[in-house]
Amino acid sequence: MKIIMLGAPGAGKGTQAKQIAEKYKIPHISTGDIFRANIKNGTELGKKAKTFMDQGLLVPDELVVDLVVDRVRQEDCTNGYVLDGFPRTIPQAEALDAALEAIGEKIDYAINVEVPDENIVRRMSGRRACVACGATYHLVHIPPKAEGICDKCGKELILRDDDKPETVEKRLNVYHEQTQPLINYYTDKKVLVEVDGTVDMADVFAAIVKILGE
Ligand code: ADP
Ligand code: AMP
Repeated sequence: MKIIMLGAPGAGKGTQAKQIAEKYKIPHISTGDIFRANIKNGTELGKKAKTFMDQGLLVPDELVVDLVVDRVRQEDCTNGYVLDGFPRTIPQAEALDAALEAIGEKIDYAINVEVPDENIVRRMSGRRACVACGATYHLVHIPPKAEGICDKCGKELILRDDDKPETVEKRLNVYHEQTQPLINYYTDKKVLVEVDGTVDMADVFAAIVKILGE
């Protein structure tokens, strides 16, 4: 099962993608996580990506497309994968489709997690991410057991630089301009499905399972 998660920043793509990956036993591929790991490790890619990410802008297509195309060709992706945060532009979607078509494959579902802009800023300011393992929490909705400490690995939780309100506004504008057109793109391909992302995360997941099957 090859799945794409669509939705505004903070809509809950990562939260749902992790559960999908676990239930259907397919890898969760988050381009945001890949960039953050590269930044942490001080790689050339990380240095380049950081200048865009800190401003709330998208990393240029040429830095992300080959990385994802190589990743989905790896052996653990044979039975499918859930892409989270990719594609984010029409050229990225076209490049992915072309790469899949070349090996006789296609995307099965593009799941759009719908959350209105008004809810997003509130969500992002409450998001806390683990510096070490990437687990995410929310101060109100899924607080960690001990304040500021990751339940899973015991390391520090931080507010991502790009989750500060002024950057979130910018990311939302970028989303509407560059990423939202993908909804029509995948509607035309007849793989778009939509779920209400404003309800409890367990209910969002239940709606997704209803679509994907038990
Ligand atoms: P995305 O991957 O789309 O940027 P996340 O999955 O990281 O978004 O979710 C953004 C924030 O909102 C996180 O702090 C997460 O815990 C919280 N969150 C996710 N889904 C829900 C939901 N259904 N209701 C309330 N908060 C949620
Ligand atoms: P995310 O963790 O998905 O919210 O991504 C964080 C940031 O990483 C985004 O705001 C972008 O700057 C960058 N990024 C992640 N995925 C992509 C992508 N597919 N194309 C361009 N930039 C991306």
